[in-house]
Amino acid sequence: MRRPPLIVDGHCHLASSRCIPSEFFVGVARNMARKQFARERSGEAEKLGRVLELQYHDHDADRLVRKMDEAGIARTVLLAPDFTHVFKSQYSLEDMAAQHAAVRARHPGRFHVFFGVDPRWGRSGYDLFERVVDRHGFEGLKVYPPCGFSPSDERMFPLYEFCAARQLPVLLHTGPTTPTLDFSYADPYLIDAAAKHFPGVNFILAHGGVNFVEQAKLMCNYRANVYLDISGFPAAMSASGWQQHLADLFSQGINHKIIFGTDWPVFSMKDDLAAMVSGLLEETGPMRSLADSTVAAIMAGTIGKLLPSPSVATQASGIGPMFELEGEKP
Ligand SMILES: [Zn+2]
Repeated sequence: MRRPPLIVDGHCHLASSRCIPSEFFVGVARNMARKQFARERSGEAEKLGRVLELQYHDHDADRLVRKMDEAGIARTVLLAPDFTHVFKSQYSLEDMAAQHAAVRARHPGRFHVFFGVDPRWGRSGYDLFERVVDRHGFEGLKVYPPCGFSPSDERMFPLYEFCAARQLPVLLHTGPTTPTLDFSYADPYLIDAAAKHFPGVNFILAHGGVNFVEQAKLMCNYRANVYLDISGFPAAMSASGWQQHLADLFSQGINHKIIFGTDWPVFSMKDDLAAMVSGLLEETGPMRSLADSTVAAIMAGTIGKLLPSPSVATQASGIGPMFELEGEKP
């Protein structure tokens, strides 16, 4: 197996049911139930959803760190999307931020955090994001458009302006998700207006190597500040299998824009982190014809360049937003 000098997982989540609302699991379970039974039996999705939720009890990331060690992953970007505007949530955004900060303190040097704020929270959401960056040193913004907004919605602009000033990357979900959310905001092209307006902000299309791949590839090739990650790759819908799907992606001249990510724990039942990494790096795997320097960039180097330098990320606040902020309280 080829081993790059460093592996950084650019897309991962804390497997904690405190941070992911039940309605998210029920949606995922609805598709599972439909696969299992021709017609969904009443209450089946809710039951399966509860089983799924039981897998999400790694609140302090001890299990995740063990999995990272087995896989040879040095550091991981934890993504904390804001579902609190659309789903009844056990934890508030403040609680979620505190939990992610506690995980970082418990496992020093192992985690980066990209935190999410729904733009409909307006001023108070902006203030909260600024606070968690200042207080906890979080290093990026996670955007979840299927909650019901375009990533180029102008209500996002104050947050992007803040990210530009602090040199924080923005990672946005693309492609389908739980069916309890809205897929119409999942297209990678929806970032175009924001990416054009904020050339100083680097945008990462989460799952861009797996969903809407044609659009994601074009965005990466023609918008200098747009990147994609390959998270979710074991589930790529391709007749030739995920290995060939990725080999094709790696042959398109955009390898400087591609970031490794697992999306653990979403595929933890299907594939483990060590199996995912070795499947990528084995001699006959999808990276077989890439130069060592390209493998190193995909597996760690590119996300490393997009993360803010510590001095920028922890700079004292005082950068006021140019855009008008209105909204509710998170
Ligand atoms: Zn994810």
